[in-house]
Amino acid sequence: MATAAEEPPGLQDLNSPAAGRHAAAAGASGGMSQAAKKTIGHRGIDPKGETTYKKTASSTVKGAIQLGIAHTVGSLTQKPERDVLLQDFEVVESFFFPSEGSNLTPAHHYGDFKFKTYAPIAFRYFRELFGIRPDDYMCSLCNDGLIELSNSGASGSLFYVSSDDEFIIKTVQHKEAEFLQKLLPGYFMNLNQNRRTLLPKFYGLYCVQAGGKNIRIVVMNNLLPSAVHMHSKYDLKGSTYKRRASAKEREKAIPTFKDLDFMQDMQEGLLLDGDKYIALCKTIHRDCLLLQSFKIMDYSLLLAIHNVDQAAAEAVAGTSDQRRPQGQKSLYSTAIESIQAEGGAMASMESEDETGGIPARNAKGERLLVYIGIIDILQSYRLVKKLEHSWKALVHDGDTVSVHRPRFYAERFEKFMCNRVFKKMPLKGSPSKKRRANGPGKKGVGFGPSLSTQSSISQQPPLSVQAGWDGVEGGEVDSAMQSDRPDLLPRTPAASGAASTPKAPLHSSAGAEASPVNPAVEGSDGTKDEEDSAPMRPAGPVDPQ
Ligand code: ATP
Repeated sequence: MATAAEEPPGLQDLNSPAAGRHAAAAGASGGMSQAAKKTIGHRGIDPKGETTYKKTASSTVKGAIQLGIAHTVGSLTQKPERDVLLQDFEVVESFFFPSEGSNLTPAHHYGDFKFKTYAPIAFRYFRELFGIRPDDYMCSLCNDGLIELSNSGASGSLFYVSSDDEFIIKTVQHKEAEFLQKLLPGYFMNLNQNRRTLLPKFYGLYCVQAGGKNIRIVVMNNLLPSAVHMHSKYDLKGSTYKRRASAKEREKAIPTFKDLDFMQDMQEGLLLDGDKYIALCKTIHRDCLLLQSFKIMDYSLLLAIHNVDQAAAEAVAGTSDQRRPQGQKSLYSTAIESIQAEGGAMASMESEDETGGIPARNAKGERLLVYIGIIDILQSYRLVKKLEHSWKALVHDGDTVSVHRPRFYAERFEKFMCNRVFKKMPLKGSPSKKRRANGPGKKGVGFGPSLSTQSSISQQPPLSVQAGWDGVEGGEVDSAMQSDRPDLLPRTPAASGAASTPKAPLHSSAGAEASPVNPAVEGSDGTKDEEDSAPMRPAGPVDPQ
């Protein structure tokens, strides 16, 4: 786990009260001694105190990303709109950016580099699906400085947020990028069918090639609006094995707590209105089935809580740090949008809260806004590799590992989220129900749907996913949830029902019209990949049943 001591000064923890966004945007500087030069994975700190990734200064990485994205999005606008074809997922476009500039690229001071764009037409289509126009995408990412986040995880990735708060950029390892490429057709086929998802929205996959290094990045939706002060933040997996934040993590301004911390801090869970609870669990169920079908495990639910009543008290006391960055747009893909029911119920469920948080209550009845999303879905290959080592001696049938364990993970995750983390607010005494009876409350908080929503929701069939549970409220975590031990394989049948499971894997065949580069041979032009190149299991969907 990254520690505060390992982070250069001046970086921004998203939602950290102490964070000065623009100080961070200016970059970290000064004062870091050689002694503090520590590396985590590919992330390090140079003698001047600047973060590095694969020994490349963060400012260079940011500059190259911005030049590259501006160019690739600009050149895409010249290509006519058309349907996405299967071979579009295999296309890799490459532009050379000499430091002295060329007919097509501007002069710059980042050293010569190449910028690769993966599946440009496919990603363009999916950005459109989420209402992101090319000029907005380019403006968000390229007009102002990218802000480096200090709260990066243990994997050694670098995180940047766009200055308008819309997008997160994360560096990914070779295998993660490769995994995402394989995932893309099925993943996006599902997004096409169902946009109400908590899965990460990948808006672009790129690679900066410089100095013999490949720096791969994904652009994703930012789940945590920095204008909202998060009073607490959790990374939840549904496991209790070693799932407590470390002492070092707790020293941070806004630590990322884990499952055991949540169970201790919020024994009653987060209480949601019935319709929101149903919509959320439906989304989680569908997402888990999809992840299971791709044999993906080890993902987390990132959950951040803004306590509306606490914030109001802080504002009165003058201790509030609520920030409203100028010109901030509403997020393209927010938590509340992710869980809204399809069709007619959608509009009426709209929250009045403009930041996209899901209205909830804690056990004290305080009003909360909850920001959630599933993160870290590209790391399965690590776990698969680990499992291959430890399980070989125990399990002779490889399929038992690769098929059943993802189901176990998904079921445990879903059960934990829908039994322990989120709970249906009791109908009687539900503050939002009372409020409804008394007329609308304060604008800007958006607790509880309108009456019309209730009627449309109640017409929906009950969720089959709930059928086999201990009960939707406060069900006990079963023994298998107490540990990550592989001997605790699922004993329950797979959850069935409403999910939209992907069909057969899409196999690409024909050559692409834009002379695709086979990603497998990437690096053959002399660049060096530092990542482990052990073979990976295919990412094709399996039947989750
Ligand atoms: P680890 O190996 O510890 O899981 P990682 O480097 O893979 O870490 P993540 O777990 O993906 O990183 O994320 C680390 C932190 O970055 C999260 O706890 C969260 O605070 C922030 N983060 C990640 N993804 C997003 C996102 N889409 N929006 C906002 N914040 C995010």
